Amino acid sequence: MSQDRAPALPAAGAALQPLELLWAQCPTCWGQRKIWEPQEAANGEGVILVAHACDGCLGIGEVIR
Ligand SMILES: [Zn+2]
Repeated sequence: MSQDRAPALPAAGAALQPLELLWAQCPTCWGQRKIWEPQEAANGEGVILVAHACDGCLGIGEVIR
């Protein structure tokens, strides 16, 4: 009996290159992760600054380029 050679497997590493995720500082909040917005205070104190999560990076502070 002759030994059959196993078929050559394609090089796994060739097709699976690691994705290079480039994180960059969010241009919307400048990496602060939140946006401060003036808002009318409910108790009549006038206008106060209220922070909410940044829309550009969803509160992460960085975005993938
Ligand atoms: Zn942001």
